[in-house]
Amino acid sequence: MSLSEILRVTRVQRGFKRTYGELRVLDDVNLRLAEGEIVGLLGRSGSGKSTLLRIIAGLIEPSGGAVEYLGKPLSGPAQGVAMVFQTFALFPWLTVLQNVEAGLEALGVGARERRRRALAAIDLIGLDGFENAYPRELSGGMRQRVGFARALVVNPTLLLMDEPFSALDVLTAETLRTDLLDLWNERRLPIKSILIVTHNIEEAVFMCHRILVLSSNPGRVMAEIRVPFAHPRDRLDPTFKRLVDDIYAKMITRESIDATRKTLALGSWLPDVSTNLMAGLIETLAAPPYNGKADLPEIARTLHLEVDDLFPVAEMMQHLNFAHMREGDILLTPSARQFAEYGTQERKQLFAEHLLAHVPLAASIRRVLNERPGHRAPRVRFAQELEDFLSDSAAQQTLDAVINWGRYAEIFSYNDQTETFSLEDVEGD
Ligand code: ADP
Ligand code: MG
Repeated sequence: MSLSEILRVTRVQRGFKRTYGELRVLDDVNLRLAEGEIVGLLGRSGSGKSTLLRIIAGLIEPSGGAVEYLGKPLSGPAQGVAMVFQTFALFPWLTVLQNVEAGLEALGVGARERRRRALAAIDLIGLDGFENAYPRELSGGMRQRVGFARALVVNPTLLLMDEPFSALDVLTAETLRTDLLDLWNERRLPIKSILIVTHNIEEAVFMCHRILVLSSNPGRVMAEIRVPFAHPRDRLDPTFKRLVDDIYAKMITRESIDATRKTLALGSWLPDVSTNLMAGLIETLAAPPYNGKADLPEIARTLHLEVDDLFPVAEMMQHLNFAHMREGDILLTPSARQFAEYGTQERKQLFAEHLLAHVPLAASIRRVLNERPGHRAPRVRFAQELEDFLSDSAAQQTLDAVINWGRYAEIFSYNDQTETFSLEDVEGD
């Protein structure tokens, strides 16, 4: 591998304004890309991966730190840096060929040269025969190929990809990944380095030479893993699986230590984890062969859960004091074991106690309802409060999560039509 440096990110920070202060999304991010490398940026949803990629693409500015591309400070989008998104906004009124050419027009490339390069890119990415098709006539996989062609046609030096395969079905995604890797390994791409964002550990191990793991809240590079396998890689190889497991354990351990260290505040973001999923996980873990303790990667595989599904459940179970995380294992607390033994009504009651004790937002809703004469309160009452701390969409999502748990626990009811909380049909005080 040549040591020529393509990209250097030094102490990059980025925050977004909130009513009170700032949401620090990226904190002190450092990374380097050398020629010949495919590097993965792995992290949970919301950890700031897209924000970092947009900074590197010159689409937004960091609030601190520096980005250098080919040894020069970056200011705005640099020529030679192309981006592939999860889904592309193709121009529906343009053909495949015209869509691919569109990227070159902006660069002032002449008509004949545009045509020549677009046809070459279309050929390279396996779209020949579809030059005159319109986007609506294409499958999702073919549309994504047009997106790739549009990125490749500018002959980029650095290719940035933001979860480029995650909107595709499993088989299409694998085909496209393999095609891209083949082009790369046969040196048929002008690209010198690829930075790919993903929340899929297997995808990162399948594709990358090096993986940077980004922690959440704030995003920071918490681990760097070299992938020692040659391409093409075999997902079924035991060493491949072991590396996937190691990364899994690293991510969950680190994230959960962070989660337990932070007790929830009124304005904390809450993942919308279903009570069914929590109950199901508690039951599975309480029963043999686990008997209250399991290896997280193993349980994830057994239950067919991805990082973005399992981590939030595990995290909420910790917040609710139903589980602890230790060295890649998940352990049920005594209350969770009780929960597994209980029938429906006792479960609800136990859940209610934990919800009110550990989730301040749930306790606050209940308190407001108790204090109000009619025991009712509109959703906006709490949405506005949360929006001081969270983005609008995060606030709504957090409220939805608490509504689901509160309904299950029967600590309040909520009417979807009128968007009001009340204590109607609620047992107890
Ligand atoms: P990821 O790609 O890892 O899922 P993002 O970079 O999209 O994460 O987002 C990280 C955090 O930054 C989220 O909490 C998101 O709500 C917030 N965020 C991203 N873009 C903006 C923006 N333009 N304004 C306010 N908050 C934002
Ligand atoms: Mg993203």
